[in-house]
Amino acid sequence: MSTVIVVGGGISGVACAGALNARGHAVTLLDKGRVLGGRMASRTVRDSGTPSDGHVVDIGASYFTAQHEAFQPLIEEMVGEGVVRPWTDTFHVASSGGIDGVKTGPIRYTATNGIRSIVEHLARQLTDTEIISAHGVASVSCDDDGLLIDGARAEAAALCMPSPQARALIDPSAPQFTDALFATHELVWEPVIAVTAIYDSPTWREFDGMFVNDDPVITWIANDGSRRGTGAPVLVAHVQPVLAARHLERPADVLPAALGAIQRVLGIDETPTWATVQRWTYAKPMSASTEPFFLDETIGLGLAGDAWAGGPRVETAWLSGHLLGHALADRRERSANDVRVTGRTSL
Ligand SMILES: Cc1cc2nc3c(=O)[nH]c(=O)nc-3n(C[C@H](O)[C@H](O)[C@H](O)COP(=O)(O)OP(=O)(O)OC[C@H]3O[C@@H](n4cnc5c(N)ncnc54)[C@H](O)[C@@H]3O)c2cc1C
Repeated sequence: MSTVIVVGGGISGVACAGALNARGHAVTLLDKGRVLGGRMASRTVRDSGTPSDGHVVDIGASYFTAQHEAFQPLIEEMVGEGVVRPWTDTFHVASSGGIDGVKTGPIRYTATNGIRSIVEHLARQLTDTEIISAHGVASVSCDDDGLLIDGARAEAAALCMPSPQARALIDPSAPQFTDALFATHELVWEPVIAVTAIYDSPTWREFDGMFVNDDPVITWIANDGSRRGTGAPVLVAHVQPVLAARHLERPADVLPAALGAIQRVLGIDETPTWATVQRWTYAKPMSASTEPFFLDETIGLGLAGDAWAGGPRVETAWLSGHLLGHALADRRERSANDVRVTGRTSL
């Protein structure tokens, strides 16, 4: 195991490992999930009893933009490789009563094989990273010699995940972590419950995605068939955060209200033949720091993700991890130089 540990295999963790590898530093990346991706999550529909079995549906992040000059070339490259595809620049806007119009913005990107495949693709390109999945880290502590991850010595560590999850790992009694604990303090995170609904056929008016304003139940509907480019009759709706917060214990209880809201907003009579829910307790921070990341240079503990770099978006999470990786590489290179200087002086 390398002594530089990245905890979290979402896009920020993989970007952090990528930047370290590019500078010649080996990394061990640990993720508690069975697969990488974090909130860039996709699931293959199985046993639905519908023709949509095999369809890959995005159940976390809906789409992403690529406006930052460091992120854009990476995405263009992945478009060339067929991993990423430009989806749309136009979303519909609706309210409780129905569709109000359309709104045009920047190009929103999606992935041919589901948004998670982007993180997998980036992970496959890591040149010197040992990836250990299904490995939840339980503690970040320290002693007089430095950092310990689950009791094992680490020269440096990056916690690339929602800040409440990072905060829960850090030993609150160690004065060395005062700044890191402060950096993860007070941020409020919104929950989301994502509802996937499969229909017999698409009876709705054509749309890519739809912002639903002022509705008590849902905030967004994605046409996943359009997102995948297959036309499959699969919709994903996001439940309004206050309602989601009330249903985090039993997310399936929100299904009838959410499916009714989809009918009402789209003006359709059909009900889905299959539906399921995905709970995101920490979906998005309500505000994010404009600092790109946190790094305590002395102890070597960093924090990255969409609570930084102006988040909460895929693009900013990538940027945050990427920049933290470079800062950790700078720190290692500086300490290697210090050792060389000290060695020469002592001769
Ligand atoms: C429902 C929803 C819709 C969204 N829509 C959009 C959108 O349309 N556009 C957009 O740009 N962004 C969107 N986002 C936000 C986007 O998904 C995030 O900004 C981005 O994916 C964050 O990446 P990350 O790597 O920082 O964190 P994550 O993706 O959360 O990755 C963190 C990783 O850390 C791992 N982990 C956590 N704790 C531990 C531990 N103790 N030990 C080991 N591993 C651990 C987790 O398993 C996870 O893989 C959405 C998010 C959600 C949930």
